[in-house]
Amino acid sequence: MQNAKYQLRCLECGKTITDRYTNTCPEGHDSLLRTVYKRKRIRRLSGKGMFDYIDWLPVEEALSINACPITYKSADFGKELGLKNLYISFSGYWPEKSVFMETCTFKELEAPPTLQRAKEGADRKILVVASAGNTSRAFADVASMTGMPVVAIVPKSSIHRMWTTTENHDCIFLISVDGDYSDAIAISKEIVKIDALIEEGGARNVARRDGMGVVELEAAFFMKVLPNYYFQAVGSGTGAIAAWEAFIRLIEDGRFGQEMPGIVISQNLPFAPMFSAWQDGRAEIIADKDMSNTGEAIEKMYADVLSTRNPPYSVKGGVYDMLGSSNGRIYGITNEECKIAEKLFESEEGIDLDPAASVACASLIKAVDEGFVKKEDKILLNITGGGYKRLREDYKMYEIEERMELNPCSSVQLPLDEIEREVKEFESTKLLASRRVVNV
Ligand SMILES: *Cc1c(COP(=O)(O)O)cnc(C)c1O
Ligand SMILES: [Zn+2]
Repeated sequence: MQNAKYQLRCLECGKTITDRYTNTCPEGHDSLLRTVYKRKRIRRLSGKGMFDYIDWLPVEEALSINACPITYKSADFGKELGLKNLYISFSGYWPEKSVFMETCTFKELEAPPTLQRAKEGADRKILVVASAGNTSRAFADVASMTGMPVVAIVPKSSIHRMWTTTENHDCIFLISVDGDYSDAIAISKEIVKIDALIEEGGARNVARRDGMGVVELEAAFFMKVLPNYYFQAVGSGTGAIAAWEAFIRLIEDGRFGQEMPGIVISQNLPFAPMFSAWQDGRAEIIADKDMSNTGEAIEKMYADVLSTRNPPYSVKGGVYDMLGSSNGRIYGITNEECKIAEKLFESEEGIDLDPAASVACASLIKAVDEGFVKKEDKILLNITGGGYKRLREDYKMYEIEERMELNPCSSVQLPLDEIEREVKEFESTKLLASRRVVNV
């Protein structure tokens, strides 16, 4: 495969791997795989949404969708904070700024390349995605736009996040779980034993990370140079790992400067396991120390989409390595700080925020107060979600109906036969639909 556009590399053994929707090293190493693209100087094409950056996406063909984040230089919020060079990346719905991501978060950058990569390399298997809502909504939306089917597994308490602006939900097999995010993940691991299905892969899936990396690519072309600091709220930290990897490639590209930005991430207290472990100087999360009273802590969170219990923190190439090699840091943010930051951002910039984006805004305020960032520093603030209220002015939201409800207590003896029958039926009706896939 000398001429392949990209290959995968294991960061542990350095082995080069030809991608067959491969999410782990064949030698069994606990390391993220990273994409190595043949083209080192990225082109910015036009008219293809996020696929304008297809040079650095692990797919051969572009999907015709118009999701793409924007970057702009903040006037008012930056001024309020005393920052002269605050750049905002916005992923969400804000037509006045020409950004039309109708699921309102940057998860919409993960779904298109992931579905396309599965189509190209996963033997026509159907992707299974487990999430606390925003990821599954993004996959559901791209599934209905392209006709590529997905199985989405979501905790019952997050079912209200499952909607799209399209009425047709034929391509979405939604399963609700009477439990939390971790139960949804556990069930997805069982369900993928069914032959027609394949596990999406989460943080280990290069298409998800490189898809989110489009935020940094778009920002680099707008700013013409890498920022000194990058701010993002995290649950899993996958988006921040993606940012780090995109910065590594942009440095290799050579046109945007040579210095790795400081990556500043933030978690919402009281559930902040990575914050807790990092404060303690540990490369491992210890449940007893970093995640006591998990259920109660998660219930108290303002931004509960950030409630990932098993983040890719210690894995090679994960959050711990990212923080170390980018001179990064983590802030723990209280609900009160979130709300204050949210109010200020919304009134200064004129768009509503996802609660997770408010966490990032609060962390920036904290970093300024502490003197960690300076007035002249070039800062990229990733507003990972927003525009829900704005979307409601233009669209109706159609709730996605669940096709099955599962109970995690019975996960040892999940009714796999029954699920398989249902999925087979779903698949046969979807076979026709999948011919509708539009490639450009
Ligand atoms: C998922 C999500 C995040 C956190 O992303 P990571 O995967 O932890 O990097 C932040 N903001 C929003 C709006 C999200 O949906
Ligand atoms: Zn390896």
